[in-house]
Amino acid sequence: MNRGFTTAILHSDREAPIEHHSVLKPMHTAVAFGYPDSRDLVKVFKNEMPGYSYGRQGNPTTAALEAKVTRMEDGIATICFATGMAAIASTFAALLRAGDHVVSSSFLFGNTNSLLGTFGALGCEVSFVDATDAANVARAIRAETRLVFVETIANPRTQVADLERIGALCAAKGIVYFVDNTMTSPWLYRPKRHGASLVINSLTKCIGGHGNALGGAVTDTGLYDWTRFPNIHGSYKGANPANWCMLQIRKKGLRDVGATLAAEPAHRIAQGSETLALRMDRCCANALALARFLAAHPKVTRVFYPGLADHPQHRAATEWFRGAGGLLSFELADGIDCCDFLNRLELVISSSHLGDNRTLAIPIAQTIYWDMGAARRAEMGISESLIRVSVGIEDEADLIGDFRQALG
Ligand SMILES: *Cc1c(COP(=O)(O)O)cnc(C)c1O
Repeated sequence: MNRGFTTAILHSDREAPIEHHSVLKPMHTAVAFGYPDSRDLVKVFKNEMPGYSYGRQGNPTTAALEAKVTRMEDGIATICFATGMAAIASTFAALLRAGDHVVSSSFLFGNTNSLLGTFGALGCEVSFVDATDAANVARAIRAETRLVFVETIANPRTQVADLERIGALCAAKGIVYFVDNTMTSPWLYRPKRHGASLVINSLTKCIGGHGNALGGAVTDTGLYDWTRFPNIHGSYKGANPANWCMLQIRKKGLRDVGATLAAEPAHRIAQGSETLALRMDRCCANALALARFLAAHPKVTRVFYPGLADHPQHRAATEWFRGAGGLLSFELADGIDCCDFLNRLELVISSSHLGDNRTLAIPIAQTIYWDMGAARRAEMGISESLIRVSVGIEDEADLIGDFRQALG
């Protein structure tokens, strides 16, 4: 049966019988799995039989979460990791070789930017381009380009990648299209719609939502023909090419790197995911109301939010995304100190996290972008008074009221 998004998440565990008729899927903390017939253990190792071998490669609790994320992204398979960064790093490590080339958006989560620098040092060349226009991506593609990497909405300036045309470009060229969907979440946008091959989600953010567990996931949408990808090892080329990439990521990424998601955080994230759609709708409504309030305020000079009509990618964001997301940023008028302002907020918490139920704010130049220096910040359009807000699910009047009094 083709069920709705939230129904599918809520009832996904029941597709297989749940132990003791539990309504809530129990948590499995076992590291080892024993088999009465040792030949079955051998079959599991040879990928001839489904089953668990050792906790580093997965357990029934992470598998239950993987099934949920696969549903959310309308994919064919998902692998969970200890963090979003672990999912990105392990996937790159599993799929790239020295001499390969990657085209990446230059509007990127800072740690992903740093990670790509590491792969550069290991012999993979990376071209960073302004991905709000697919023409820039097209110009950077070479014979050795193995994948194109973009984020849906960039943080903190909220640039929206040219997702539809980049997807069409990758399909035409036969290149893997890798989309980080963290900022939109699968409720607001499914990258598969525009041809994504692999989708990454930091489960730490909106999907978990409660700021109580780290996690990450990579999902294969089933759209890419892995027989065209030169870096799949012979031992992972089973009868069905649809399984090749995920098997290689599970072995070369999850097993060899070992950044495994433990059962306890997987269980918490799975519970958080049940209300993803409800929370995101509320975050989007709050963020739009706050963006409009700030845009009209005399002490605020600029507001960056794809839901505002003057945002450069407003039309695309409106067409593709169910809502414009829970993240916005703004610049204070000259002479107002960011930290003084943040200290006046009573409800909003000064914190670096995002995608939490609580509204969090942070001055960008002085924290996350401090290391890169003033010159690089100016290049990236990060002003010294830029404040990022991750909008939560508080009552709208309380949220706006807090910003009103702090600006007053
Ligand atoms: C937070 C974030 C990540 C990394 O996720 P962690 O779970 O913190 O490792 C990756 N991409 C984006 C867009 C993020 O916001």
